[in-house]
Amino acid sequence: MTTIPESFGSLVFDCRVMKARLSADVYHSLKRTIQKGNKLDLSVANAVAAAMKDWAVENGATHFTHWFQPLTGITAEKHDSFITPAPDGRVIMEFSGKELIKGEPDASSFPSGGLRATFEARGYTAWDPTSYAFIKGKTLCIPTAFCSYGGEALDKKTPLLRSMEALNKQALRILKLFGNDEVKRVTTSVGPEQEYFLIDRAMYDKRRDLIYTGRTLFGAKPPKGQEMDDHYFGSIKPRVAAYMEELNEELWKLGVLAKTEHNEVAPAQHELAPIYTTTNIATDQNQLTMEIMQKVAAKHGLVCLLHEKPFAGVNGSGKHNNWSLSTDIGANLLSPGETPYENAQFLLLLCAVIQAVDDYQGLLRASVATAGNDHRLGANEAPPAVVSIFLGDELTAILGAIETDTAYTGVEKKKMKLGVDVLPRFIRDTTDRNRTSPFAFTGNKFEFRMLGSSNSIACTNIMLNAAVAESLKLYADELEKAEDFNTALHELIKNAIKAHKRIIFNGNGYDDAWITEATEKRGLLNLRTTPDAISEIIKKKNVDMLTSHKVFSEAELHSRYEIMLENYCKTVCIEAQTMSDMSRKQILPAVERYAADVADAAASKKTLDTEISCCYEKKLVKKLAALIDSIDSRTDALDGVIAKLKTLTDITEEATYIRDEMISKMSQLRAAADEAEVMTAESYWPFPTYGDLLFGVK
Ligand code: ADP
Ligand code: MG
Repeated sequence: MTTIPESFGSLVFDCRVMKARLSADVYHSLKRTIQKGNKLDLSVANAVAAAMKDWAVENGATHFTHWFQPLTGITAEKHDSFITPAPDGRVIMEFSGKELIKGEPDASSFPSGGLRATFEARGYTAWDPTSYAFIKGKTLCIPTAFCSYGGEALDKKTPLLRSMEALNKQALRILKLFGNDEVKRVTTSVGPEQEYFLIDRAMYDKRRDLIYTGRTLFGAKPPKGQEMDDHYFGSIKPRVAAYMEELNEELWKLGVLAKTEHNEVAPAQHELAPIYTTTNIATDQNQLTMEIMQKVAAKHGLVCLLHEKPFAGVNGSGKHNNWSLSTDIGANLLSPGETPYENAQFLLLLCAVIQAVDDYQGLLRASVATAGNDHRLGANEAPPAVVSIFLGDELTAILGAIETDTAYTGVEKKKMKLGVDVLPRFIRDTTDRNRTSPFAFTGNKFEFRMLGSSNSIACTNIMLNAAVAESLKLYADELEKAEDFNTALHELIKNAIKAHKRIIFNGNGYDDAWITEATEKRGLLNLRTTPDAISEIIKKKNVDMLTSHKVFSEAELHSRYEIMLENYCKTVCIEAQTMSDMSRKQILPAVERYAADVADAAASKKTLDTEISCCYEKKLVKKLAALIDSIDSRTDALDGVIAKLKTLTDITEEATYIRDEMISKMSQLRAAADEAEVMTAESYWPFPTYGDLLFGVK
């Protein structure tokens, strides 16, 4: 039996394999490309490709693919085999440097938001050597960026890499000012915690809503939900434990550092967290994790639901993006340091994040905007749709003391003077109590908690990296020209706190009073729905920032705006159509059958004895008849909205119409159907109920 350390990363073409299989020259030149972004010449690429192919074939691969992340939100791959005909009529396995570096998938069916007219179907994929190739099934997967022939990004990786570069550039300027010359690169690290639901496959197959939309569109509350809090961190059921075990093994082989797993708040809900790594790799690995989660589930007769809100009335699923800044010499820049200088640097970086989140709160909100996530944000379980930062009392008090030049009355009762004082050590546990905050400082990293479980983490990190790069740029511009660095630094930090402290909130984010205070007193944005949030992407201030750091071009932003709205419209529209279909073909006939049977029962009782009152049946049939009429008329109303939507041609208009008209018609229909479910005998109900789904996995 192989041990975990032996099998860990066994399907990854990582440094270990490269070192063993490449000549020293080729290895070093590849390392330079990975670490410094140097261009790779073709002879090196050829050597890497040959070694990669040999390794992949030895590990059972027959095909290779350029693996990329188009704007659909999932990953895409087109497989080519290594087989090449040889002159003697046989075949050999071949793979060239050119094939490694560049691919040309037919791009026409991926969303481009008008960037690429469909007749120019060509797009190309370009190898991203900073993320290791790996084997999935029988295929060597090569992580790539996906662009149009004009060079515009058609994927999520390209802008992510650009944003990391932008942040690196500005952070190095700041570190230099603090005399940190030995640092050559600043990168961001991310550890995404992933929530999911596991349900029984046979039950899933009976629910068209789950099959078509990933969430339940109907379903009355079960007698027991999550109110007992007995699932959270509870003991794991055998079927789920077997699933988690195999999931870990598969992820470990792929080099994903899956670390913690536990039950979550809702019944049937679980979480998996990997150990953090460079953002780009974390993003690739999170996509891979979501895919493997679903594949392994299928092998266990289960379905893994990654939708943000598969069940109304119980917790939805999110993803926590734990984010920090680190240097190539291994320092976490968001850790308070040992010396006064390190502390001043820490405080400046802290301010940079605070300012970034305040100035670009709209972009952060937009980065997690999807139809699915609209059911979570602001629904008293996930953080609200208002972005704010939790710093903890101690750090907030320190910033307060700096802002007002007063004594910090914390642990050591002294006046904080930057460049002189060492910050008091704050203990992580005292800073991580608030689970309601969208953006929390947790000792040496920030945790952004607004992401939905199915979101790619790329979008959030693109916006976050770019926004922080912008604050660092403003700071560096000012400090580089300062005559007295310490004085300028002190002033800058003070002013930044003054200007941006409105975004800091340590209280309960689920409280309605906070939303009122946030919007009315502090002027923070409350972008409740996806259409509201997405318009942030094309606001001038945001476009200016993102284009100035070369993270996006203006055309790319407009295309993304369109694609996100299109996704929103398509998603809700499919849900509406599924509801109408289930209502007419399953729910109405079932309730009707039950009502008829109850009426028949009453009639046959009467034939026995005309004196029998049949109160129960009469009352029930009357109620059911009324519900049938109401389900029918509400389905008609929904159909009307669906028909009207088809006549609209402007995507912004469509999204607004969906937000204002369609969604309320959907919930009205649901309310009537859920009421009918409660009144109808179980054996008549056409699909598994919430109770079946949530408590069905033993
Ligand atoms: P929780 O948020 O539930 O308290 P953990 O403390 O285990 O959970 O952290 C959650 C995630 O944060 C993990 O993926 C972990 O690897 C990641 N993490 C820890 N330190 C850092 C860091 N410096 N940068 C980025 N992510 C980090
Ligand atoms: Mg967390």
